[in-house]
Amino acid sequence: MILARLAGPRRFELLEQPTPEPGPGEVLLEVAFVAVCGSELAPYLGTATQFPLYEGVARYPRTVGHEASAVVAALGPGVNSVHVGDNVVPRSALFASHAIAQAEDLVRIPSGVSLERAALTLMGQETYYLCHEMLRIQPEDSVLIIGVGPFGMLCVEHARDIGCTSITVADMHTSRLEIAQQLGASRAINAAVDDVSKTAEEERPTVVIECSGQPQPIQQAIRLAAPLARVALAGRPYKPLDGFTIEDVFHNMLTVLGGKIPPPGYAPMYRQRVLDMLKAGRIHAAQHITHTFPLSEVGEAFEVAIDPLRGGLKVVVHCQRATIPGRSTAQHAEQSRH
Ligand SMILES: [Zn+2]
Repeated sequence: MILARLAGPRRFELLEQPTPEPGPGEVLLEVAFVAVCGSELAPYLGTATQFPLYEGVARYPRTVGHEASAVVAALGPGVNSVHVGDNVVPRSALFASHAIAQAEDLVRIPSGVSLERAALTLMGQETYYLCHEMLRIQPEDSVLIIGVGPFGMLCVEHARDIGCTSITVADMHTSRLEIAQQLGASRAINAAVDDVSKTAEEERPTVVIECSGQPQPIQQAIRLAAPLARVALAGRPYKPLDGFTIEDVFHNMLTVLGGKIPPPGYAPMYRQRVLDMLKAGRIHAAQHITHTFPLSEVGEAFEVAIDPLRGGLKVVVHCQRATIPGRSTAQHAEQSRH
């Protein structure tokens, strides 16, 4: 099997390793696609060292990758819940051609959803959990989403799907604002030109989803929220919040929520719901996935993902398309089942 590993900041290396055998209750997966996640950009860049919590994030060599789709390639002893050839979404898988997974953790991909699009499932489950369970968004809510990268964009889908008609998005990039409007945002604020505070004041949001993790937008999220609003701090913060004030939390009786990961036992259920949304076209996968790279170009996939000016939103890596440098044999690229 081939594994892509970070050898240092902005430097992937491809390693050839023995393909593992599945043990009891396990399956061997042929990994199809792995999407680049925002949480992996800090280890890629080697910059996430400002908080003790992230110590080790920039230690190398290290593996990354988790938002995967895959095909079952072999069954370990006692496995009968899935079959060889099934398309599945595992709980996690690295940027590698193969992976071992617990059979009970796998969710089957319905017909009509491609392996490439199914790579949206993991971020889809986090946004689903955030919007439905943590924030309990209702159709009458006025929603403000700060930052419409891949995560915020999926939140637009959920808010529209729930029935919200007031969805405001703020971002620095017009291309992203345009996609958000196509997906159901009723108002777009270009934060590079307009003051988000002034524009959002007219209709104060009852739900705010802060996706950037940056100090100023986090402060704005709390400041702009209507009395009794729910505010989600969904962007991973990497910098100290200098001069940060929380009096609005007290005066406006805000509910502030952090994080977004569903508890492990529930995650398969949310993955299933997201796959249903993908199948029904309630998540518009074509607008989210802008770039696909072979595993041998995983570094380029990350370069596109870190720079919104290159027009990328969700960037995915085809893990059955890779060659080890110095070899000419493609890894069973074209004949795979998808
Ligand atoms: Zn992720």
